[in-house]
Amino acid sequence: MHPVTRFAPSPTGRLHLGHAYSALRAHDFAREREGSFLLRIEDIDPGRVRAEYVDGIIEDLLWLGLEWDADMVYQSERLDLYAAALGRLKEMDLVYPCFCTRADIAASVAAPHPGSEAGTGGPEGPLYPGTCRGLAGADLSRPHAWRLDVARAAARTGPLTWSNDGKLVAALPETLGDVVLARKDAPASYHLAVTVDDADQGVTDVVRGRDLFVSTHIHRLLQALLELPVPRYHHHGLLSDAAGGRLAKRHGAATLADLRAGGMDPAMLVAALRRGQLPSGYSLPQA
Ligand code: GLU
Repeated sequence: MHPVTRFAPSPTGRLHLGHAYSALRAHDFAREREGSFLLRIEDIDPGRVRAEYVDGIIEDLLWLGLEWDADMVYQSERLDLYAAALGRLKEMDLVYPCFCTRADIAASVAAPHPGSEAGTGGPEGPLYPGTCRGLAGADLSRPHAWRLDVARAAARTGPLTWSNDGKLVAALPETLGDVVLARKDAPASYHLAVTVDDADQGVTDVVRGRDLFVSTHIHRLLQALLELPVPRYHHHGLLSDAAGGRLAKRHGAATLADLRAGGMDPAMLVAALRRGQLPSGYSLPQA
């Protein structure tokens, strides 16, 4: 079977070299196996998404010579699909409305009160302490998010596994706690949208950065609950800067647009990335 991979950037800034590396890995994985490479714009975060960054993504990928097959997909045009998936989870009684603000969560993590779990740390910060789980008679006219009751969901599916670079991994969905599936200000979260889309687009191999490894535990759980096919996963190491720090927009990593403006030749850049060489000041992951 020919594989289908995808690059799924969020248009919240210009792409940097780390994105180029990830896009290239997904692109080459498909091309080396006569597969297809898709582009999906993950634009459901209303506060951070800007249309000009979508243009930037297209410009940068074409500059690198990474062409995608089929029409690109915008998550903002697929909200009905996510709402339907959330609806199924509501029917299964596996999600609950959460009225907490960030400040509430920070306060209850700092000083847990009876009935809420102590705010143990997860890989991405403190886990949600469960304040709204089991809330009776919730007033849904108030702004609320929807959270997955992970323990209940995992009890329903039983143990799950997924494949990472050909090795079987035991799913540990509780690692991230009761994650948000629909936000107060957005009808779907990353976890729900990405799981629904990868299935809907027929993605067979998810090639993405190791920073998303932990999220895969949740995606696997959602696949089981929603009876979706399970892709194979390939989490690649992340590029770092000369100081060994992670490349990120907020740390001022040079964007592809900067490199282009500086006269970099895209064919040479892509060839160097494929050989495992980077412009000075960057280093490639060990793995
Ligand atoms: N949109 C996500 C990001 O920009 C990537 C999603 C994925 O590859 O699963 O980090």
